[in-house]
Amino acid sequence: MLKEKAFSYPINDERLAAPIHSLKGIGSKRAEALERKGIRTIEELLFFFPFRYEDRRKIVKLSEVSEGMEAFVWGRIASAGEECLLPSGKRIFKIELDDGTGRLALVWFHYQKAHMWQLVSHGKGLCVFGKVRFFKRRAQIVHPDVQVVDTPRPGGLEPIYSEVKGVSSRVLRNAITQALDKCLDALVDPIPAWILERMHLPGLVKCIRALHTPSPDADADDYNALATPFHQRVRFDRFFWVMLVVLLRKYARQGPGKVRPLALPRDFLHRFTRALPFPLTDDQVHVIREIADDMQSGRPMNRLVQGDVGCGKTVVGAAAAFMAVSNGFQVALMAPTQILARQHFVFFSNLPPQLGFRPILLTGALKGNERAKVYNCIRHGDCDVIIGTQALIQEEVIFHRLGLIIIDEQHRFGVRQRSLLAQKANHPHVLVMTATPIPRTLAMVVYADLDVSVIRTRPPGYKGVITEVVPDREKRRIYDIVTKRMEQGEQVVVICPVIEGQEGSDLKNALDMFEGLRRLYSPRFTVALIHGELSPGEKDAVMEAFRAGRIQLLVATTVVEVGVHAPGATVMVIEHPERFGLAQLHQLRGRVGRGEREGLCLLVKPAGIPEQAEERLRILASCDDGFEISEQDLLLRGQGELVGIRQSGVGELDMREVINYPNLLMAAREVAEQLLQDDPHLSKPEHDLVKRHLMRIYGKQALHEL
Ligand code: ADP
Ligand code: MG
Repeated sequence: MLKEKAFSYPINDERLAAPIHSLKGIGSKRAEALERKGIRTIEELLFFFPFRYEDRRKIVKLSEVSEGMEAFVWGRIASAGEECLLPSGKRIFKIELDDGTGRLALVWFHYQKAHMWQLVSHGKGLCVFGKVRFFKRRAQIVHPDVQVVDTPRPGGLEPIYSEVKGVSSRVLRNAITQALDKCLDALVDPIPAWILERMHLPGLVKCIRALHTPSPDADADDYNALATPFHQRVRFDRFFWVMLVVLLRKYARQGPGKVRPLALPRDFLHRFTRALPFPLTDDQVHVIREIADDMQSGRPMNRLVQGDVGCGKTVVGAAAAFMAVSNGFQVALMAPTQILARQHFVFFSNLPPQLGFRPILLTGALKGNERAKVYNCIRHGDCDVIIGTQALIQEEVIFHRLGLIIIDEQHRFGVRQRSLLAQKANHPHVLVMTATPIPRTLAMVVYADLDVSVIRTRPPGYKGVITEVVPDREKRRIYDIVTKRMEQGEQVVVICPVIEGQEGSDLKNALDMFEGLRRLYSPRFTVALIHGELSPGEKDAVMEAFRAGRIQLLVATTVVEVGVHAPGATVMVIEHPERFGLAQLHQLRGRVGRGEREGLCLLVKPAGIPEQAEERLRILASCDDGFEISEQDLLLRGQGELVGIRQSGVGELDMREVINYPNLLMAAREVAEQLLQDDPHLSKPEHDLVKRHLMRIYGKQALHEL
């Protein structure tokens, strides 16, 4: 669907910048209501587009209406009155229309009696618009839009705007008409003409007029499918500006683009593989080669590795680190949580000495003297793989010779954190890893400034996770399974959406769950609790005990979401899965079944959750591919929880649009690229408008690096 509000446009013409209350019919109350929709100026009003159109040009004969048809009809009132529905006793209001060819019933379930009788007493004819449904073989329209008229009177292709509380559609339409008449000609099209020509797109003024007031011969279906060239133009603009700014940032980051190429260590891949306890998968080898090529190229690497949970991204990072360290550089590896940082530290510490790693751990848990020691060690180059949390970006951290930055689970960080870390080095190579895979077209926008590698297959021996949606009331069955699995020596994680109970909320919380399960299972099994409010030390201790198998049942919040690996955990019970995003649920369940045995994930579904939420759970249960899940998630929710999108400049985009119009997106990217090839800094006079418009959307700050 087209978003109602597009970007607004560049020229500070007074007429366009005028507040909407300068329009007739818009007083301060209505202006306030519109403001809540983000409409303050006339210009913004012009970019508030209809989301559908009603075709009132042709009056359909009542004998010709069909099921599902959006029909504009006229008829005389044959009968009218309240009826009582049995057995509920609910009252409805019904009017029978007759136009001489047939009959149609109008039905209201909610109505004001007085208003209804007024309608009926007024005239003998009604013009009606609505969707026709057949009920007991008779045509009817429920809650129709009605006008009292004596003779049939056709209208136009009427724009319908999404509801603004406190402003009726008539008032809104009237205000927009005034805005079009008074101000539309002040609008300047910021997109260069050659681009519009190439894309076969109409100019902005024409486009805005046509969206608000379709021509009499316009195709209603095209309009309602939002598929006219005018809709396409608006859509194109949204894509274009985002692509342009993302590409500009990409080029700015590349800077002069020259760094000393790293040398490939002799026998690189062979030596690296020999140091590992397992052979690499083909995908891992492929991505490691891409990374090695980047680092030898003489340009700073900027690469994203996308791969589902458990596909083995860490060793790929280690391979990059091996290359950097062999060339005498330090590596900074930043992870979103202490648990994860620690896990990486253990991984690097356990690699055999011939790889030459000297890892060190820096997290917020480190205090005083210990911390100072680590700082010194980093500054003097006495360590070379510096693993940590956000603590790495602190000012006190000064690297001896930082050459490679690895960011794990990058969706947890903002662009800002990435660039703060990058500022600690001179054009470092950057490798980011994410387990929130996204479709390729989307990756092109969100990560247009990165090269993307994908690890699609999981290491052999990965058993996968079976996911089942279990209704709340079948609790007993769930805990029978849990008990049985624990008796077989397996470990279980129970996820709750919140730590503590809130008054008036019946959400299951971790504290109560923990108490309940402890009463149930202790001392037969050890039950523990982990959540975000524990100190980092406490969290680590619990996770360590869980990993080591000293805890059988772990009650947790989403702190266990990212990256953490406990081989004995096979069952996950997720309470209130409807409270989580699909991608997040997928990550969560990725915590189990990473060892010998297949994982089992039970999604506990409360009664009465919305249909869409159920649909999402079904998707999860039937699909184990992170790429597909994220695509579905985006299609369902439009925005997904792809954290990081906002900072990447595409926060304005509706992700459904990105997924549904991949070709337009590609085309927008191509022309944006071409524009920048011709004029990398937008310094040519003919691109002045483009530049000013970009600044207006993204702010001077955002374009500072240009
Ligand atoms: P993620 O991609 O989620 O970060 P990890 O890097 O944590 O995944 O790897 C998951 C598990 O798979 C780890 O225990 C790791 O040692 C193991 N692993 C990684 N690559 C391979 C491989 N090629 N063969 C066997 N096991 C592997
Ligand atoms: Mg990982």
